[in-house]
Amino acid sequence: MATKYVFVTGGVVSSIGKGITVASIGRILKNRNISVSVMKLDPYLNVDPGTMSPYQHGEVFVTRDGGETDMDLGHYERFIDLELTRSSNVTAGQVYTSVLAHERRGDFLGGTIQAVPHVTNHIKECIFNLASETSADVIVVEVGGTVGDIEGQPFLEAIRQMRNDVGRENVYYIHLTLLPYIAATGELKTKPTQHSVRDLRASGIQPDAILCRSDHDVSQSIKEKLSLFCDVKVPAVIPLLTVDNVYAVPLILEESGLGDLLCESLDLSRRVCDSTTWADMVQRMQTSKTSLPIALVGKYVELPDSYISVKEALKHAGLHHDRDIEIQWVHSEDLDEAGAADVLLKQACGIVIPGGFGSRGTDGMIEAARYARENRIPYLGLCLGMQIMTIEFARHCVQYAGANSSEFDPGTPFPIIDLLPEQRAVQDMGGSMRLGIYPCRIMEPTLASQAYGANEVMERHRHRYEFNNDFRESLESAGLLASGMSPDGKLVEIAEVVDHPFMVGVQFHPEFLSRPNRPHPLFHEFIGAAKNTLREGAQAELPLDGS
Ligand code: GLN
Repeated sequence: MATKYVFVTGGVVSSIGKGITVASIGRILKNRNISVSVMKLDPYLNVDPGTMSPYQHGEVFVTRDGGETDMDLGHYERFIDLELTRSSNVTAGQVYTSVLAHERRGDFLGGTIQAVPHVTNHIKECIFNLASETSADVIVVEVGGTVGDIEGQPFLEAIRQMRNDVGRENVYYIHLTLLPYIAATGELKTKPTQHSVRDLRASGIQPDAILCRSDHDVSQSIKEKLSLFCDVKVPAVIPLLTVDNVYAVPLILEESGLGDLLCESLDLSRRVCDSTTWADMVQRMQTSKTSLPIALVGKYVELPDSYISVKEALKHAGLHHDRDIEIQWVHSEDLDEAGAADVLLKQACGIVIPGGFGSRGTDGMIEAARYARENRIPYLGLCLGMQIMTIEFARHCVQYAGANSSEFDPGTPFPIIDLLPEQRAVQDMGGSMRLGIYPCRIMEPTLASQAYGANEVMERHRHRYEFNNDFRESLESAGLLASGMSPDGKLVEIAEVVDHPFMVGVQFHPEFLSRPNRPHPLFHEFIGAAKNTLREGAQAELPLDGS
Protein backbone atom coordinates (compact mmCIF):
# COMPACT_ATOMS: atom_id res chain seq x y z
CA MET A 1 0.00 0.00 0.00
CA ALA A 2 1.22 3.52 -0.79
CA THR A 3 2.11 5.63 2.24
CA LYS A 4 -0.68 8.03 3.16
CA TYR A 5 -0.10 11.54 4.49
CA VAL A 6 -2.29 13.57 6.80
CA PHE A 7 -1.29 17.24 7.04
CA VAL A 8 -2.52 19.35 9.91
CA THR A 9 -2.33 23.14 9.71
CA GLY A 10 -3.47 25.70 12.25
CA GLY A 11 -5.55 28.81 11.75
CA VAL A 12 -6.74 31.94 13.58
CA VAL A 13 -4.52 31.74 16.69
CA SER A 14 -1.80 29.53 18.13
CA SER A 15 -2.08 27.48 21.34
CA ILE A 16 -5.37 25.81 20.45
CA GLY A 17 -4.05 22.30 20.93
CA LYS A 18 -2.66 21.36 17.53
CA GLY A 19 -0.11 19.01 19.12
CA ILE A 20 -2.76 17.18 21.13
CA THR A 21 -5.00 17.01 18.06
CA VAL A 22 -2.24 15.51 15.92
CA ALA A 23 -1.35 13.05 18.69
CA SER A 24 -5.05 12.12 18.92
CA ILE A 25 -5.31 11.57 15.16
CA GLY A 26 -2.34 9.22 15.52
CA ARG A 27 -4.13 7.40 18.33
CA ILE A 28 -7.42 6.93 16.42
CA LEU A 29 -5.47 5.46 13.52
CA LYS A 30 -3.53 3.18 15.86
CA ASN A 31 -6.83 2.08 17.41
CA ARG A 32 -7.62 0.78 13.92
CA ASN A 33 -4.40 -1.17 13.87
CA ILE A 34 -2.91 1.16 11.28
CA SER A 35 0.80 1.79 11.69
CA VAL A 36 1.49 5.46 12.04
CA SER A 37 4.36 7.85 12.51
CA VAL A 38 4.23 11.55 13.19
CA MET A 39 6.34 14.59 12.54
CA LYS A 40 6.33 18.26 13.32
CA LEU A 41 7.53 20.87 10.86
CA ASP A 42 8.58 23.95 12.82
CA PRO A 43 8.85 27.09 10.70
CA TYR A 44 11.09 29.03 13.11
CA LEU A 45 14.73 29.57 12.21
CA ASN A 46 16.33 27.98 15.28
CA VAL A 47 18.16 24.81 14.33
CA ASP A 48 16.54 22.91 17.17
CA PRO A 49 14.64 23.76 20.34
CA GLY A 50 17.64 22.66 22.46
CA THR A 51 18.97 26.17 22.92
CA MET A 52 15.59 27.87 23.25
CA SER A 53 14.32 29.20 26.57
CA PRO A 54 11.67 27.04 28.20
CA TYR A 55 9.72 30.26 28.77
CA GLN A 56 9.44 30.66 25.00
CA HIS A 57 9.08 27.15 23.94
CA GLY A 58 8.12 24.87 26.80
CA GLU A 59 9.98 21.65 27.43
CA VAL A 60 12.69 20.32 25.15
CA PHE A 61 11.71 16.74 24.40
CA VAL A 62 14.58 14.31 23.87
CA THR A 63 14.20 11.41 21.45
CA ARG A 64 15.98 8.08 21.89
CA ASP A 65 18.59 9.01 19.29
CA GLY A 66 19.38 12.25 21.12
CA GLY A 67 17.29 14.70 19.11
CA GLU A 68 16.38 17.84 21.08
CA THR A 69 12.88 18.40 19.82
CA ASP A 70 9.62 20.23 20.20
CA MET A 71 7.47 19.31 23.20
CA ASP A 72 4.69 18.16 20.87
CA LEU A 73 6.75 15.03 20.17
CA GLY A 74 6.13 14.15 23.81
CA HIS A 75 2.37 14.24 23.18
CA TYR A 76 2.83 12.07 20.08
CA GLU A 77 4.86 9.47 21.98
CA ARG A 78 2.49 9.39 24.95
CA PHE A 79 -0.72 9.22 22.92
CA ILE A 80 0.42 6.80 20.24
CA ASP A 81 2.85 4.84 22.42
CA LEU A 82 5.72 4.91 19.97
CA GLU A 83 9.32 6.02 20.08
CA LEU A 84 10.24 8.71 17.59
CA THR A 85 13.62 9.89 16.40
CA ARG A 86 15.06 13.26 15.44
CA SER A 87 13.60 12.69 11.96
CA SER A 88 10.22 13.59 13.43
CA ASN A 89 11.06 17.23 14.04
CA VAL A 90 12.26 19.48 11.27
CA THR A 91 12.79 23.21 11.76
CA ALA A 92 13.29 25.86 9.09
CA GLY A 93 16.73 26.39 10.66
CA GLN A 94 17.70 22.80 9.88
CA VAL A 95 16.29 23.02 6.37
CA TYR A 96 18.18 26.21 5.50
CA THR A 97 21.39 24.96 7.16
CA SER A 98 21.29 21.86 5.04
CA VAL A 99 20.35 23.62 1.77
CA LEU A 100 23.15 26.14 2.32
CA ALA A 101 25.65 23.38 3.12
CA HIS A 102 24.79 21.80 -0.26
CA GLU A 103 25.23 25.17 -1.93
CA ARG A 104 28.67 25.64 -0.30
CA ARG A 105 29.70 22.19 -1.52
CA GLY A 106 28.72 23.19 -5.03
CA ASP A 107 25.99 20.55 -5.25
CA PHE A 108 23.70 22.92 -7.16
CA LEU A 109 26.34 23.46 -9.87
CA GLY A 110 26.13 27.24 -9.72
CA GLY A 111 22.35 27.38 -10.03
CA THR A 112 20.24 30.01 -8.28
CA ILE A 113 19.03 28.63 -4.96
CA GLN A 114 15.37 29.39 -4.37
CA ALA A 115 12.63 28.79 -1.82
CA VAL A 116 10.86 26.84 -4.59
CA PRO A 117 12.13 24.26 -5.48
CA HIS A 118 15.27 23.96 -3.33
CA VAL A 119 13.87 24.68 0.11
CA THR A 120 10.55 22.96 -0.59
CA ASN A 121 12.35 19.91 -2.03
CA HIS A 122 14.37 19.59 1.12
CA ILE A 123 11.23 19.80 3.30
CA LYS A 124 9.61 17.05 1.20
CA GLU A 125 12.76 14.96 1.44
CA CYS A 126 12.49 15.11 5.23
CA ILE A 127 8.89 13.89 5.04
CA PHE A 128 9.79 11.07 2.62
CA ASN A 129 12.74 10.20 4.78
CA LEU A 130 10.50 9.60 7.80
CA ALA A 131 8.16 7.53 5.62
CA SER A 132 10.99 5.27 4.48
CA GLU A 133 12.64 5.04 7.92
CA THR A 134 9.43 3.99 9.63
CA SER A 135 7.55 2.21 6.80
CA ALA A 136 4.39 3.48 8.52
CA ASP A 137 1.08 3.22 6.66
CA VAL A 138 0.22 6.79 7.55
CA ILE A 139 2.46 9.75 8.33
CA VAL A 140 0.72 12.55 10.22
CA VAL A 141 2.49 15.86 9.70
CA GLU A 142 1.87 18.89 11.92
CA VAL A 143 2.79 22.22 10.42
CA GLY A 144 3.76 24.47 13.33
CA GLY A 145 2.57 28.05 13.62
CA THR A 146 -0.53 29.58 12.10
CA VAL A 147 -1.50 29.94 8.45
CA GLY A 148 -0.45 33.44 7.40
CA ASP A 149 2.92 33.36 9.21
CA ILE A 150 5.65 34.55 6.83
CA GLU A 151 8.11 31.81 7.78
CA GLY A 152 5.45 29.14 7.29
CA GLN A 153 5.07 29.77 3.54
CA PRO A 154 7.68 27.29 2.23
CA PHE A 155 6.22 24.59 4.47
CA LEU A 156 2.70 25.13 3.14
CA GLU A 157 4.05 25.14 -0.39
CA ALA A 158 5.88 21.86 0.26
CA ILE A 159 2.78 20.12 1.60
CA ARG A 160 0.80 21.50 -1.34
CA GLN A 161 3.29 19.94 -3.76
CA MET A 162 3.03 16.60 -1.94
CA ARG A 163 -0.47 16.22 -3.39
CA ASN A 164 1.01 15.91 -6.88
CA ASP A 165 4.04 13.91 -5.78
CA VAL A 166 2.14 11.10 -4.08
CA GLY A 167 -1.36 11.47 -5.58
CA ARG A 168 -4.41 13.35 -4.28
CA GLU A 169 -5.93 10.09 -3.00
CA ASN A 170 -2.99 9.64 -0.64
CA VAL A 171 -3.10 12.98 1.15
CA TYR A 172 -5.60 14.52 3.53
CA TYR A 173 -5.51 18.12 4.73
CA ILE A 174 -6.95 19.05 8.12
CA HIS A 175 -7.19 22.64 9.26
CA LEU A 176 -7.60 23.34 12.98
CA THR A 177 -9.11 26.70 13.88
CA LEU A 178 -10.76 28.54 16.73
CA LEU A 179 -14.37 29.69 16.87
CA PRO A 180 -14.31 32.70 19.19
CA TYR A 181 -17.31 33.30 21.46
CA ILE A 182 -18.81 36.75 21.83
CA ALA A 183 -20.31 36.79 25.30
CA ALA A 184 -22.44 39.93 24.77
CA THR A 185 -24.44 38.31 21.99
CA GLY A 186 -23.87 34.72 23.07
CA GLU A 187 -22.59 33.70 19.63
CA LEU A 188 -19.75 31.70 18.15
CA LYS A 189 -18.14 33.47 15.22
CA THR A 190 -17.06 31.73 12.03
CA LYS A 191 -15.46 34.68 10.24
CA PRO A 192 -11.87 34.15 11.49
CA THR A 193 -12.08 30.53 10.29
CA GLN A 194 -13.39 31.66 6.90
CA HIS A 195 -10.45 34.05 6.57
CA SER A 196 -7.95 31.49 7.63
CA VAL A 197 -9.28 28.94 5.13
CA ARG A 198 -9.10 31.66 2.46
CA ASP A 199 -5.41 32.17 3.35
CA LEU A 200 -4.82 28.45 3.18
CA ARG A 201 -6.45 28.30 -0.25
CA ALA A 202 -4.23 31.18 -1.36
CA SER A 203 -1.38 28.76 -0.68
CA GLY A 204 -3.12 26.25 -2.92
CA ILE A 205 -4.49 24.02 -0.18
CA GLN A 206 -8.18 23.24 0.10
CA PRO A 207 -8.80 21.57 3.47
CA ASP A 208 -10.60 18.22 3.49
CA ALA A 209 -11.73 18.72 7.08
CA ILE A 210 -11.94 21.63 9.49
CA LEU A 211 -11.62 20.99 13.20
CA CYS A 212 -13.17 23.83 15.16
CA ARG A 213 -11.84 24.34 18.63
CA SER A 214 -14.47 25.99 20.74
CA ASP A 215 -15.42 26.59 24.36
CA HIS A 216 -19.11 26.31 23.49
CA ASP A 217 -21.36 23.87 21.66
CA VAL A 218 -21.18 24.22 17.89
CA SER A 219 -24.67 24.16 16.36
CA GLN A 220 -25.67 22.43 13.14
CA SER A 221 -26.23 25.83 11.51
CA ILE A 222 -22.67 26.91 12.28
CA LYS A 223 -21.37 23.69 10.74
CA GLU A 224 -23.49 24.30 7.66
CA LYS A 225 -22.27 27.86 7.38
CA LEU A 226 -18.64 26.79 7.59
CA SER A 227 -19.32 24.02 5.12
CA LEU A 228 -20.77 26.51 2.63
CA PHE A 229 -18.11 29.20 3.00
CA CYS A 230 -15.13 26.89 3.22
CA ASP A 231 -16.27 24.26 0.74
CA VAL A 232 -15.89 21.38 3.15
CA LYS A 233 -18.64 18.74 3.52
CA VAL A 234 -20.79 19.16 6.65
CA PRO A 235 -19.61 15.88 8.30
CA ALA A 236 -16.04 17.11 7.85
CA VAL A 237 -16.67 20.25 9.91
CA ILE A 238 -15.82 18.77 13.28
CA PRO A 239 -16.23 20.64 16.58
CA LEU A 240 -13.53 20.15 19.15
CA LEU A 241 -14.83 21.36 22.46
CA THR A 242 -12.38 22.29 25.20
CA VAL A 243 -12.01 19.39 27.64
CA ASP A 244 -10.33 19.02 31.05
CA ASN A 245 -8.61 15.79 30.15
CA VAL A 246 -6.56 15.87 26.95
CA TYR A 247 -6.56 12.07 26.73
CA ALA A 248 -10.30 12.30 25.96
CA VAL A 249 -9.61 14.04 22.62
CA PRO A 250 -9.04 10.83 20.59
CA LEU A 251 -12.44 9.55 21.77
CA ILE A 252 -14.12 12.84 20.82
CA LEU A 253 -12.56 12.83 17.36
CA GLU A 254 -13.49 9.19 16.83
CA GLU A 255 -17.05 9.84 17.89
CA SER A 256 -17.35 12.79 15.54
CA GLY A 257 -16.45 10.51 12.68
CA LEU A 258 -12.94 11.75 11.84
CA GLY A 259 -11.52 8.22 11.89
CA ASP A 260 -14.10 7.03 9.36
CA LEU A 261 -13.58 10.09 7.18
CA LEU A 262 -9.84 9.50 7.10
CA CYS A 263 -10.26 5.84 6.32
CA GLU A 264 -12.71 6.47 3.50
CA SER A 265 -10.67 9.24 1.92
CA LEU A 266 -7.38 7.43 2.22
CA ASP A 267 -8.83 4.06 1.35
CA LEU A 268 -8.09 2.51 4.72
CA SER A 269 -11.72 1.52 5.15
CA ARG A 270 -11.22 -2.15 5.90
CA ARG A 271 -9.97 -1.38 9.40
CA VAL A 272 -12.17 -1.75 12.49
CA CYS A 273 -11.64 0.70 15.31
CA ASP A 274 -11.13 -0.58 18.85
CA SER A 275 -11.10 2.26 21.38
CA THR A 276 -12.16 0.19 24.40
CA THR A 277 -8.81 0.14 26.23
CA TRP A 278 -8.31 3.84 25.68
CA ALA A 279 -11.90 4.62 26.69
CA ASP A 280 -11.52 2.56 29.90
CA MET A 281 -8.37 4.46 30.72
CA VAL A 282 -10.04 7.83 30.14
CA GLN A 283 -12.93 6.77 32.30
CA ARG A 284 -10.59 5.81 35.14
CA MET A 285 -8.88 9.17 34.78
CA GLN A 286 -12.19 10.93 35.09
CA THR A 287 -13.48 9.14 38.19
CA SER A 288 -12.87 11.10 41.32
CA LYS A 289 -10.01 9.88 43.48
CA THR A 290 -8.24 10.84 46.67
CA SER A 291 -5.92 13.68 45.89
CA LEU A 292 -2.18 13.41 46.53
CA PRO A 293 -0.22 16.67 46.80
CA ILE A 294 3.19 16.55 45.14
CA ALA A 295 5.47 19.60 45.14
CA LEU A 296 7.32 20.30 41.92
CA VAL A 297 10.21 22.64 42.71
CA GLY A 298 11.68 24.36 39.69
CA LYS A 299 12.59 27.73 38.29
CA TYR A 300 10.28 27.77 35.29
CA VAL A 301 7.09 26.99 37.22
CA GLU A 302 5.26 30.05 35.86
CA LEU A 303 5.03 28.11 32.63
CA PRO A 304 4.03 24.54 33.51
CA ASP A 305 4.62 23.53 29.84
CA SER A 306 8.32 23.64 30.73
CA TYR A 307 7.77 20.48 32.75
CA ILE A 308 4.99 18.88 30.69
CA SER A 309 6.48 15.37 30.55
CA VAL A 310 7.13 15.39 34.32
CA LYS A 311 3.58 16.57 34.95
CA GLU A 312 2.16 13.84 32.72
CA ALA A 313 4.42 11.13 34.20
CA LEU A 314 3.17 12.04 37.69
CA LYS A 315 -0.43 11.86 36.51
CA HIS A 316 0.15 8.48 34.85
CA ALA A 317 1.65 7.03 38.04
CA GLY A 318 -1.17 8.59 40.07
CA LEU A 319 -3.75 6.87 37.88
CA HIS A 320 -2.07 3.55 38.52
CA HIS A 321 -2.19 4.17 42.28
CA ASP A 322 -5.74 5.47 42.16
CA ARG A 323 -4.74 8.99 43.16
CA ASP A 324 -5.36 12.40 41.63
CA ILE A 325 -2.01 14.10 41.64
CA GLU A 326 -2.32 17.68 42.80
CA ILE A 327 0.87 19.36 41.65
CA GLN A 328 1.96 22.19 43.92
CA TRP A 329 4.19 24.38 41.78
CA VAL A 330 6.90 25.82 43.98
CA HIS A 331 9.25 28.43 42.63
CA SER A 332 12.71 27.39 43.78
CA GLU A 333 13.74 31.00 44.46
CA ASP A 334 10.88 31.25 46.95
CA LEU A 335 12.66 28.63 49.06
CA ASP A 336 15.78 30.75 49.46
CA GLU A 337 14.56 32.35 52.67
CA ALA A 338 15.20 30.53 55.95
CA GLY A 339 12.12 28.61 57.05
CA ALA A 340 10.35 28.94 53.67
CA ALA A 341 10.54 25.19 53.01
CA ASP A 342 8.64 24.46 56.23
CA VAL A 343 5.78 26.58 54.95
CA LEU A 344 5.78 25.91 51.20
CA LEU A 345 6.43 22.17 51.38
CA LYS A 346 4.30 21.52 54.45
CA GLN A 347 1.57 19.60 52.64
CA ALA A 348 3.60 17.81 50.01
CA CYS A 349 3.55 14.02 50.23
CA GLY A 350 6.37 13.93 47.70
CA ILE A 351 8.87 16.38 46.22
CA VAL A 352 10.12 16.38 42.63
CA ILE A 353 13.04 18.43 41.35
CA PRO A 354 13.09 18.31 37.56
CA GLY A 355 15.83 19.17 35.08
CA GLY A 356 17.28 22.62 34.59
CA PHE A 357 20.31 24.69 33.69
CA GLY A 358 22.19 27.55 35.34
CA SER A 359 22.64 28.54 38.96
CA ARG A 360 19.48 30.60 39.43
CA GLY A 361 17.20 28.91 41.94
CA THR A 362 19.59 26.11 42.88
CA ASP A 363 19.92 27.24 46.52
CA GLY A 364 16.18 26.89 46.93
CA MET A 365 16.31 23.44 45.32
CA ILE A 366 19.05 22.36 47.72
CA GLU A 367 16.81 23.57 50.53
CA ALA A 368 13.95 21.43 49.16
CA ALA A 369 16.25 18.37 49.04
CA ARG A 370 17.36 19.00 52.64
CA TYR A 371 13.73 19.31 53.70
CA ALA A 372 12.82 16.04 51.95
CA ARG A 373 15.77 14.18 53.49
CA GLU A 374 15.30 15.46 57.03
CA ASN A 375 11.53 15.03 57.05
CA ARG A 376 11.65 11.68 55.24
CA ILE A 377 9.41 12.94 52.42
CA PRO A 378 9.71 10.91 49.19
CA TYR A 379 11.95 12.72 46.73
CA LEU A 380 12.52 12.16 43.05
CA GLY A 381 15.36 14.08 41.41
CA LEU A 382 15.44 14.20 37.62
CA CYS A 383 18.81 15.08 36.10
CA LEU A 384 19.47 18.43 37.79
CA GLY A 385 17.35 17.07 40.66
CA MET A 386 19.84 14.22 41.10
CA GLN A 387 22.76 16.64 41.09
CA ILE A 388 21.00 18.81 43.70
CA MET A 389 20.35 15.77 45.88
CA THR A 390 24.02 14.74 45.91
CA ILE A 391 25.21 18.32 46.57
CA GLU A 392 22.82 18.66 49.50
CA PHE A 393 23.98 15.33 50.89
CA ALA A 394 27.63 16.31 50.54
CA ARG A 395 27.06 19.61 52.32
CA HIS A 396 24.99 18.35 55.23
CA CYS A 397 25.86 14.68 55.69
CA VAL A 398 29.59 14.74 54.86
CA GLN A 399 30.35 18.29 55.96
CA TYR A 400 31.70 19.36 52.59
CA ALA A 401 30.83 23.02 53.18
CA GLY A 402 30.42 24.88 49.91
CA ALA A 403 30.01 21.64 47.92
CA ASN A 404 28.45 22.42 44.56
CA SER A 405 28.37 21.70 40.86
CA SER A 406 31.08 23.45 38.89
CA GLU A 407 28.22 24.62 36.65
CA PHE A 408 26.90 26.81 39.48
CA ASP A 409 30.15 27.63 41.29
CA PRO A 410 33.27 27.08 39.19
CA GLY A 411 35.47 27.75 42.25
CA THR A 412 33.77 25.32 44.63
CA PRO A 413 36.21 23.44 46.91
CA PHE A 414 34.07 20.29 46.51
CA PRO A 415 32.88 19.90 42.89
CA ILE A 416 30.50 17.00 43.61
CA ILE A 417 29.12 17.51 40.11
CA ASP A 418 31.65 18.32 37.41
CA LEU A 419 32.29 18.27 33.68
CA LEU A 420 33.68 15.18 32.06
CA PRO A 421 37.08 15.86 30.46
CA GLU A 422 35.59 15.49 26.95
CA GLN A 423 32.98 18.19 27.71
CA ARG A 424 35.61 20.77 28.75
CA ALA A 425 36.66 21.52 25.20
CA VAL A 426 33.09 21.91 23.87
CA GLN A 427 32.26 25.42 22.71
CA ASP A 428 29.02 25.01 20.75
CA MET A 429 25.92 25.17 22.93
CA GLY A 430 23.64 23.33 20.52
CA GLY A 431 23.51 19.54 20.37
CA SER A 432 26.71 19.10 22.37
CA MET A 433 25.45 17.50 25.57
CA ARG A 434 25.25 13.83 26.51
CA LEU A 435 22.05 13.17 24.60
CA GLY A 436 19.74 10.24 23.96
CA ILE A 437 19.59 6.70 25.30
CA TYR A 438 22.34 5.05 27.28
CA PRO A 439 22.29 1.79 29.21
CA CYS A 440 22.33 1.80 32.99
CA ARG A 441 23.22 -1.18 35.23
CA ILE A 442 21.11 -1.45 38.35
CA MET A 443 22.64 -2.60 41.68
CA GLU A 444 20.68 -4.95 43.94
CA PRO A 445 18.96 -4.71 46.35
CA THR A 446 18.15 -1.04 46.02
CA LEU A 447 15.10 1.15 45.53
CA ALA A 448 16.10 1.32 41.87
CA SER A 449 16.15 -2.47 41.48
CA GLN A 450 12.84 -2.71 43.32
CA ALA A 451 11.31 -0.16 40.94
CA TYR A 452 12.69 -1.54 37.69
CA GLY A 453 12.82 -5.26 38.45
CA ALA A 454 15.59 -5.44 35.83
CA ASN A 455 19.36 -5.34 35.96
CA GLU A 456 19.89 -3.17 32.94
CA VAL A 457 17.69 -0.38 31.60
CA MET A 458 17.92 2.18 28.81
CA GLU A 459 17.09 5.78 29.62
CA ARG A 460 17.27 9.12 27.80
CA HIS A 461 19.81 11.75 28.79
CA ARG A 462 20.33 15.48 28.29
CA HIS A 463 23.06 16.95 30.42
CA ARG A 464 26.65 18.12 30.38
CA TYR A 465 27.70 17.56 33.98
CA GLU A 466 28.20 14.28 35.88
CA PHE A 467 28.64 13.02 39.40
CA ASN A 468 32.33 13.35 40.28
CA ASN A 469 33.76 9.94 41.22
CA ASP A 470 36.41 11.52 43.45
CA PHE A 471 33.64 11.91 46.03
CA ARG A 472 31.93 8.60 45.52
CA GLU A 473 33.57 6.75 48.39
CA SER A 474 33.05 9.45 51.00
CA LEU A 475 29.41 9.95 50.03
CA GLU A 476 28.74 6.21 49.86
CA SER A 477 30.15 5.63 53.33
CA ALA A 478 27.85 8.38 54.61
CA GLY A 479 24.81 6.63 53.10
CA LEU A 480 24.37 7.88 49.55
CA LEU A 481 24.39 4.82 47.36
CA ALA A 482 25.21 4.77 43.64
CA SER A 483 22.49 2.29 42.67
CA GLY A 484 22.75 2.69 38.89
CA MET A 485 25.96 2.93 36.86
CA SER A 486 26.94 3.08 33.24
CA PRO A 487 28.01 -0.46 32.20
CA ASP A 488 31.71 0.56 32.25
CA GLY A 489 31.26 1.56 35.91
CA LYS A 490 32.40 5.12 35.26
CA LEU A 491 29.24 7.21 35.45
CA VAL A 492 26.82 7.35 38.34
CA GLU A 493 23.37 7.27 36.75
CA ILE A 494 21.21 6.69 39.83
CA ALA A 495 21.86 7.70 43.42
CA GLU A 496 19.75 6.99 46.47
CA VAL A 497 19.82 7.90 50.14
CA VAL A 498 19.99 4.66 52.06
CA ASP A 499 18.20 5.58 55.27
CA HIS A 500 15.11 7.13 53.74
CA PRO A 501 11.70 5.84 52.54
CA PHE A 502 12.39 7.02 48.94
CA MET A 503 15.04 9.51 48.02
CA VAL A 504 16.21 8.75 44.51
CA GLY A 505 17.96 10.91 41.94
CA VAL A 506 18.58 9.91 38.34
CA GLN A 507 20.99 11.54 35.91
CA PHE A 508 18.57 10.82 33.07
CA HIS A 509 14.98 11.78 32.22
CA PRO A 510 12.59 8.90 32.96
CA GLU A 511 9.64 11.23 32.38
CA PHE A 512 10.08 10.86 28.61
CA LEU A 513 9.26 7.15 28.76
CA SER A 514 6.07 7.35 30.79
CA ARG A 515 2.81 6.43 29.06
CA PRO A 516 -0.74 7.02 30.35
CA ASN A 517 -1.40 3.28 30.50
CA ARG A 518 2.15 2.31 31.48
CA PRO A 519 3.67 4.59 34.13
CA HIS A 520 7.42 4.72 34.37
CA PRO A 521 8.69 2.37 37.13
CA LEU A 522 10.48 5.13 39.06
CA PHE A 523 7.46 7.42 39.02
CA HIS A 524 5.31 4.46 39.97
CA GLU A 525 7.51 3.65 42.96
CA PHE A 526 7.79 7.32 43.96
CA ILE A 527 4.02 7.82 43.98
CA GLY A 528 3.64 4.53 45.87
CA ALA A 529 5.93 5.92 48.57
CA ALA A 530 4.20 9.33 48.51
CA LYS A 531 0.86 7.61 49.01
CA ASN A 532 2.14 6.21 52.30
CA THR A 533 3.33 9.59 53.53
CA LEU A 534 1.08 11.20 56.08
CA ARG A 535 1.05 14.99 56.12
CA GLU A 536 -0.78 17.45 58.24
CA GLY A 537 -3.98 18.62 56.55
CA ALA A 538 -3.67 16.01 53.78
CA GLN A 539 -6.93 14.80 52.29
CA ALA A 540 -8.14 11.59 53.89
CA GLU A 541 -8.93 8.51 51.82
CA LEU A 542 -12.31 8.90 50.08
CA PRO A 543 -14.94 6.61 51.63
CA LEU A 544 -15.74 3.65 49.41
CA ASP A 545 -19.28 4.82 48.67
CA GLY A 546 -17.84 8.07 47.32
CA SER A 547 -19.89 10.20 49.77
N1 GLN B 1 22.49 21.52 34.10
C1 GLN B 1 22.76 20.15 34.36
C2 GLN B 1 23.75 19.55 33.37
O1 GLN B 1 23.98 20.07 32.32
C3 GLN B 1 21.48 19.33 34.39
C4 GLN B 1 20.80 19.23 33.05
C5 GLN B 1 19.37 18.78 33.13
O2 GLN B 1 18.74 18.79 34.19
N2 GLN B 1 18.80 18.38 32.02
O3 GLN B 1 24.35 18.55 33.64
